[in-house]
Amino acid sequence: MGRIRPLSENLIGKIAAGEVVERPAAAIKELVENSLDAGATAVTVEIREGGMDYIRVADNGCGIDESDIRMAFERHATSKISREQDLNAIATLGFRGEALASIAAVSKVTMTTRTAERETGLKVTNEGGKITDIRETACPVGTTVVVNDLFYNVPVRKGFMKKAGQEAAAVHELMTQLLLSRPDISFRYISGGKTEFHSPGDGQSATALQTVYGSRAMKAMKTVDDHGNGLVIRGFVGIGENARGNRSQELFFINGRVMHSKILNEAVENACRERVMIGKFPVCALYITIAYEAVDVNVHPNKLEVRFRDETGVYEAVHSAVLTALKERDALEHPTEMPLVKEKEAEPAPAAPRIVVPKTDTVVSVSKTLPAEAAAVPQSAPFRPAPEFREVRPAPAKQEEQPAPAVHSVPVMREKAEQVSTILPEMKKPLKVFGALFNTFILAEYEDQLLMIDQHAVHERLLFDRLMKEHINGDQAGQELLVPIVVSVTNAEQRLLEDNREALESIGMTVESFGERDVAVRTIPMILGEAQAKDFIRDVIEELQNGRDPTFEKKRTALLQTACKHAVKGGDALTEDELRDLLDTMIEKKVTPTCPHGRPLVVAITHRELDKKFRRIQK
Ligand code: ADP
Ligand code: MG
Repeated sequence: MGRIRPLSENLIGKIAAGEVVERPAAAIKELVENSLDAGATAVTVEIREGGMDYIRVADNGCGIDESDIRMAFERHATSKISREQDLNAIATLGFRGEALASIAAVSKVTMTTRTAERETGLKVTNEGGKITDIRETACPVGTTVVVNDLFYNVPVRKGFMKKAGQEAAAVHELMTQLLLSRPDISFRYISGGKTEFHSPGDGQSATALQTVYGSRAMKAMKTVDDHGNGLVIRGFVGIGENARGNRSQELFFINGRVMHSKILNEAVENACRERVMIGKFPVCALYITIAYEAVDVNVHPNKLEVRFRDETGVYEAVHSAVLTALKERDALEHPTEMPLVKEKEAEPAPAAPRIVVPKTDTVVSVSKTLPAEAAAVPQSAPFRPAPEFREVRPAPAKQEEQPAPAVHSVPVMREKAEQVSTILPEMKKPLKVFGALFNTFILAEYEDQLLMIDQHAVHERLLFDRLMKEHINGDQAGQELLVPIVVSVTNAEQRLLEDNREALESIGMTVESFGERDVAVRTIPMILGEAQAKDFIRDVIEELQNGRDPTFEKKRTALLQTACKHAVKGGDALTEDELRDLLDTMIEKKVTPTCPHGRPLVVAITHRELDKKFRRIQK
């Protein structure tokens, strides 16, 4: 017994002791880490009033023996580290030996604990850092720490506390991270009497993730499972609709601990670049196993920032693991019932066909080979494609000889062709197009497969790519309207538009004040039809209102995306030529096989799968 020893003075100096308990979440973190260090498999955390009134952390860990109980509350007493070298290879979570002492110093703590060797447990009461009572009690093996009235004796600190709701939010975020970091632990989290979540602790990161994000989001996540450069990388990455406005949901668990690292953020974001819109961030929970010696865990109060000895190696391994996951796994992970077909958004079909935007892009290449079709480009909306937006590309025939990028991987599709696929095959032959089902899904035959292609998704991907390219080249001319569109706005909105004149012009939009409450729109971005201009202006105003003082670049990107959104219309009845053009462009441009929101462009069913469905062949 007696495993708890004081740290040496020297070591104390090496450890930059910071404030351990600055808010309830910080205290809970320390307490749960103690539970995990004690080998617990189930941990319950309960709070009231954001944890300021009441925190309870109960575990089924090893408990504390009578001989150690007083020492546990001493500052710099720990059972977890004694030699300096240990600092370089810290496997346990807490090691400064001051959490319990610090928490007890600023609150009223009751600890109930029992080890397996003892028949009865102990109940220790500590008020403001002094043990006031120790008595025997009946309790299960493990430890329960109840913290009442945090900061009751530190009025200054108490005054700094945020509202209970904000403290509860911080605890929620912490619990999420803890839960995800240890799928092998069953976590129960109760706030204000309500069970927020309860994970099974079955060791599956997928179940842990589902506990946090729900099964719907889970379905759209890609599985990462890879290794390289001394790392094992497992977990999930969410793109497209799972993407967030900031990187707070990019979570990394290094050897079981939540860690922050710019290198890891960059690796994931760069790998996802084409799959999330600019300004959005992927969601991920990546579990990285790496030799302790290859990691510098900063001995910092929060123990969060991590550095790697071989940063390039780590970057490459994670980048490649995520890339692989995005390229290959969507086809494998999705269920066979083709949810995308069922989950089609209900977009009302407009009475008349609207513009087919990618036309502007394809006219040139088409006109070379098929002048008749090019001439037949419908101009049903007042829309004039500007010549400077047409991009002359090498003839498709030439391109086909070049090796296609790995993303168009046919083998994956063949093996699992009966499943939903987001992988575009490398199509060398022309497609046989049958038309568009529900004015939404283009049906086509290619080799032994029936392809169903989401026309809006393809539209959107092509537009998005083009916009981004022009955006990068700084090439944004507007189309002038014959008659300016007048939009009524409030004074504040008018000012907003005036203040952002430069950003608007950079995307091809000229807006002028016109009387007291009106603005006149003289030019609109090239990809917009006039019909959409009014709605677009409303969205632009909203976009500008929401974007709290972003940089010019950010503003421009956001406006471009708004324009892109407007240009894509669902349920349009496209002509056969238009459908074919859309597909030709998609193939020619070797597009990323998802729309900018991450939905797949193509779903495929093989001939064989149809044979099976019709019972023409046995499985
Ligand atoms: P540290 O965790 O850095 O060692 P603490 O002040 O957090 O310092 O805890 C002091 C000691 O009390 C720990 O080293 C451990 O031996 C014991 N202890 C604290 N909490 C628990 C728990 N939940 N179960 C078992 N032992 C615990
Ligand atoms: Mg501790």
